[in-house]
Amino acid sequence: MSDCIFCMIINGDIPSNKVYEDDKCVAFYDVAPAAPVHVLLLPKTHCDNVTKCDPELLGYMMSKIQVIAEKTGIMESGFRVVINTGKDGGQTVNHLHIHIIGGKELGWPPC
Ligand code: 5GP
Ligand code: ZN
Repeated sequence: MSDCIFCMIINGDIPSNKVYEDDKCVAFYDVAPAAPVHVLLLPKTHCDNVTKCDPELLGYMMSKIQVIAEKTGIMESGFRVVINTGKDGGQTVNHLHIHIIGGKELGWPPC
């Protein structure tokens, strides 16, 4: 999708601070972090949200969470994995992304 900001990051049209990348997915730091560590993990091929994504690809991306947690130093302290979906879910960028948030004790519930 040419008007998708995350596709633009994937294409290199917008810079990002990458944590992880392979042929299927990429992870970079959120531009407006909600915690000391806030990474977004997303597929390289555009899909609007978690309900539109190939489940196999979704599973593959989930398997990379531990890699990112280790790389960013939050594996031992713990972290939160969030997929905002649609208007009520607070999704603002309609390219599926998995938030990986940590580096401090997080509050709950989020609403
Ligand atoms: P959502 O609200 O859709 O779940 O999350 C979108 C996230 O993308 C937000 O946390 C927001 O800060 C982040 N974001 C939006 N635009 C950019 C950008 O250009 N670069 C980076 N690194 N993050 C972005
Ligand atoms: Zn996109």
